[in-house]
Amino acid sequence: MFRFDIIEEHGGHEEVILCTNKDVGLKAIIAIHNTTLGPALGGTRMWTYKNDEEALIDVLRLSKGMTYKAAAAGLNLGGGKAVIIGDPKKDKSEGLFRAFGRYVESLNGRYFTAEDVGTDVDDMEFINMETKYVTGIDIGHGGSGDPSPFTAHGVYMGIKACAKERYNSEDLKGMRVAVQGVGSVVRHLIELLHKEGAQVIATDVDTERLKKVAEKYNCKIVAPDDIYGVDAEIFSPCALGAVVNDDTIGKFKFQIVAGGANNQLKEKRHGDLLKDQKILYAPDYVINAGGLMNVYVELEGYSRERALNMTRGIYYSLRQVFALAKEENVSTNTAADRVAEERIEKIGKIKRSHLGRSTRQFNKMKIENR
Ligand code: NAD
Repeated sequence: MFRFDIIEEHGGHEEVILCTNKDVGLKAIIAIHNTTLGPALGGTRMWTYKNDEEALIDVLRLSKGMTYKAAAAGLNLGGGKAVIIGDPKKDKSEGLFRAFGRYVESLNGRYFTAEDVGTDVDDMEFINMETKYVTGIDIGHGGSGDPSPFTAHGVYMGIKACAKERYNSEDLKGMRVAVQGVGSVVRHLIELLHKEGAQVIATDVDTERLKKVAEKYNCKIVAPDDIYGVDAEIFSPCALGAVVNDDTIGKFKFQIVAGGANNQLKEKRHGDLLKDQKILYAPDYVINAGGLMNVYVELEGYSRERALNMTRGIYYSLRQVFALAKEENVSTNTAADRVAEERIEKIGKIKRSHLGRSTRQFNKMKIENR
């Protein structure tokens, strides 16, 4: 399953590490995509992959996405991700996560991990017993806790940036927002939208959860498959990936697509289709970077205020993406990729020159390298 051509095909990663420990049943892959801007950061996903190749492709794709997300957010972080092959409901143990933590430690800060699908704060605590290169740990242990409120705040600022671009006003009063999924992010997002007087139309496959949220915020409810055809200005995908595709775009009456879900476009060309239909798309990795910003602040010494300030910046990042898209007549997702790639290239170039070392440091290095 481990083939260099697969790695090259998915973005030419700097390093891919296979982690195994038979005693605790660990089978994991850490992928470091690009560290030009700083240490690679990205969560650890635990999933029952069909086979090893599927796990490899997932970690390669996800780690590349993290490079772009960090770069577009203006963070000094690179892109990385890890996957643990296993069932999060059955295969978790202290030994498994500690064994994995030792692999993270062995990378000496080239990769920082965090929670992702299938892992939680408790698992991070075990990893933290073996390495300091872990973020998203509990507030009680000096971490930044749940990132969802910060992701939600960023999405809210992003929706405002879209409204400003489309209607020349960021006021959301009276705007109809169709929200897909009422999970951790949306519970905070709805509160902000509700306060501003937007009307929310919501759906979720979890009908109990949906009912509770709808009652609290007086939202209209629709069935999961009906959300794509709702009469609303804004569509906010906050559940699954690939929801903007050939089957759904034809149903859209929306003028804006702006939500927290990862990988909203099934394929890159669906961004072009949205552009052709004059639907403004807020590229997912730009608008949902609030959670990443929160853990970045944790690395610097956590301040909730600073994290919130950073998520406000998503408004301006999106305005920059929209301006570039207009100027170059490209889709907004292409413009976002260009912003990220340009930053990596420019910062990479400034790092080419030698900063100099004192003779003492140099001598010490020579001694250590002997
Ligand atoms: P969550 O698991 O708490 O909520 C997702 C919700 O979507 C659940 O209520 C689930 O029942 C619902 N759902 C699943 N399938 C659905 C379907 N077909 N139709 C309608 N609803 C469906 O997840 P979350 O943490 O709120 O994250 C939401 C999205 O945002 C995910 O795509 C996640 O990857 C992304 N994201 C989250 C964060 C974060 O800070 N939590 C950060 C960046 C990106």
